[in-house]
Amino acid sequence: MEMLLRNTLLFLAKSQAANRWAQRYGLHFGAQRFVAGQEIPDALAVTRTLNAAGIMVALDHLGESVFTEEEAVNATRDCLDTLDAIAEAEVKSRLSIKLTQLGLDIDRDLCRRNVTQILQKAQAYGNFVRIDMEDYAHNEVTLDIFRELHTDFPDTLGLVIQAYLYKSERDVEQLGAEGANLRLVKGAYKEPRTVAFPEKADVDRNFIALIERHLASGNFTAIATHDEAVIDHAKLFIEKNNIPRDRFEFQMLYGIRTHLQQALVLEGYAVRVYVPFGRDWYAYFMRRLAERPANVGFIVRSMVKA
Ligand SMILES: Cc1cc2nc3c(=O)[nH]c(=O)nc-3n(C[C@H](O)[C@H](O)[C@H](O)COP(=O)(O)OP(=O)(O)OC[C@H]3O[C@@H](n4cnc5c(N)ncnc54)[C@H](O)[C@@H]3O)c2cc1C
Repeated sequence: MEMLLRNTLLFLAKSQAANRWAQRYGLHFGAQRFVAGQEIPDALAVTRTLNAAGIMVALDHLGESVFTEEEAVNATRDCLDTLDAIAEAEVKSRLSIKLTQLGLDIDRDLCRRNVTQILQKAQAYGNFVRIDMEDYAHNEVTLDIFRELHTDFPDTLGLVIQAYLYKSERDVEQLGAEGANLRLVKGAYKEPRTVAFPEKADVDRNFIALIERHLASGNFTAIATHDEAVIDHAKLFIEKNNIPRDRFEFQMLYGIRTHLQQALVLEGYAVRVYVPFGRDWYAYFMRRLAERPANVGFIVRSMVKA
């Protein structure tokens, strides 16, 4: 039953009609729990509050799967404006981007040019940009574009790798040799068993193996999870292997396990929260519901309250 609900929510995440409806009518159904607001000032307000609590931020101007050049150029402008706003407000925040938001499905070169513009601005500010990993269909091309740009922007660009994919073990090994700064996650999309572990226990096992491998490689590792067992395991590994504090951080999503975020800060760990904002909140929200179908209770409660 839970799997059926999860698959339905991930299927709904792809609905263009629902996305258009969501853009028109603003944050609904309790999406405010996971999305910081629709405009840059909303995102900055949340960032300041988190910074004041000792938590760093990665802002994500929401958007994915754009289908016209104009939309891709607008999304690029949004990312550039976000970098300007971070610098102007002097808040502790980096930027996360999605390649399909910047035109990957329209024209690979257009996407590459857009990302290059964003990286040039981030580099000028001394900031950092991470490419989120999307569904499997975009995995190889995302790795290719990352590699092409990483050569020119080695300290400004990072990538995400998903533990549910069989191929990630090899990718992490190769990216480690290339000096990549990686965020490691379990993976949020619906993928077939031909490419991804169908069992959660296997995903968790692979996740821990990838975290250990990348930490041991000496490259920066962002351990992005709300799973306390994984976090405890990582802490022990870090301790035992004397991994320096500036070589890793814990990352979580805005609105999820906030007490755990604070507890890690109090223990002296670097913690960064991924803060999404913008009008394109729908697909992101559906994926958060799918991760924990109990969250669907929020929708029902918010509808009752409305
Ligand atoms: C900073 C960050 C960036 C990410 N970037 C990407 C990316 O680029 N590509 C990608 O595919 N995925 C990304 N993800 C999502 C990730 O792949 C997982 O889907 C998500 O983190 C849930 O997995 P988990 O590791 O928290 O473990 P789980 O085993 O799913 O969850 C562990 C516990 O965390 C809590 N929890 C987890 N999710 C939720 C939720 N939605 N609502 C309430 N409680 C919850 C529950 O208590 C749960 O028992 C990112 C995650 C984070 C934290």
